[in-house]
Amino acid sequence: MSSKSGQWCRAADMSKCRSCRAPAVIDLPRHNAHFCAEHLEQLCRRQFRRAVDDFAMFSHDDTILVAVSGGKDSLALWDMLATEGYSTVGLYIGLGIGRYSDESHDVVAAFAADRGLELRTVDLRTEHGFDVPTAARVTARVPCSSCGLSKRHIFDEVARDGGFDVVVTGHNLDDEAAVLFGNALRWDVEYLRRQAPVLPARGRFPRKAKPLVRLTEREMAAWCVIRGIDYVVEECPMAIGNRHHTYKEALAVVEATSPGTTAAFYLGFLDRMAPLLATTADEEPVELCRSCGAPSGSSDGVCAFCRLAERASTATPVPVEMVLSRGARRRYIEQWGDAPATEGDTDGRP
Ligand code: SF4
Ligand code: ZN
Repeated sequence: MSSKSGQWCRAADMSKCRSCRAPAVIDLPRHNAHFCAEHLEQLCRRQFRRAVDDFAMFSHDDTILVAVSGGKDSLALWDMLATEGYSTVGLYIGLGIGRYSDESHDVVAAFAADRGLELRTVDLRTEHGFDVPTAARVTARVPCSSCGLSKRHIFDEVARDGGFDVVVTGHNLDDEAAVLFGNALRWDVEYLRRQAPVLPARGRFPRKAKPLVRLTEREMAAWCVIRGIDYVVEECPMAIGNRHHTYKEALAVVEATSPGTTAAFYLGFLDRMAPLLATTADEEPVELCRSCGAPSGSSDGVCAFCRLAERASTATPVPVEMVLSRGARRRYIEQWGDAPATEGDTDGRP
């Protein structure tokens, strides 16, 4: 189900690379230019370095924990970091999302083995007694809610225990613009204030950085093709139809008619709006979870992740098909094959 080919190479026809006049492999309307493979790679590296430097994300002295999902962005990021000489370890979290998770793990493990990179794996069910579909059913909330909570908790824990200086994720320009769009639609000032490409370390929370914020999804897919990176093309089945997806599609419509709008929207926010929203630094919760020792911020002394684990680990495991909407389940079966279903349609997310 993974692939080295993508739909990134819209016919460049007889177009020439802007830098060297060799035949182009990709058109990038937001740069009003075409590029050959070599100069596309140069452009991506330049944008990556600029993000790292402009936002003081990390240095070559830091040890970097790279969150890898098996998708194009996180594998491209790990490849960039490793080939730019940074000291990295990959972290894959097994979320228990059916065959999508199985395939993702295999792809990440092969990527690391081929390049001699160190990979750590944390499997939610093995190590914490539950998976994302079961947590979604137990909490009766969208799967992304318990998934996001679990991933943040594990990133922090592995970074803290392993003495890493920074956790990096593969969020790209399209991801960040879609999040910004959603936050602005709701005028969620608190989220807007915290939407930064780098969040400094606070007490027991490690620094977090997003080095791909100047690069688009299409550029990352092209990077993977050029660099021979095998990645999972299919999206997480839980993403189908979620709000983030809808915002991305809306921005893609605007971008198609007005190239460069997405970058102007997001980078303009960072440049001109974020400084106006910056107030005092976030306070770190002083309470530590009595179960795991992480900052908890809750009055009962147990962090949100441990509360979730406590509830979900005693529930009967729920297969991924059971928490997908009808449309998403159909897509999942098309992509990953049929599986025994034991319950009726849930008709929407739990
Ligand atoms: Fe987790 Fe949602 Fe992302 Fe899937 S789409 S990996 S459930 S956050
Ligand atoms: Zn805890």
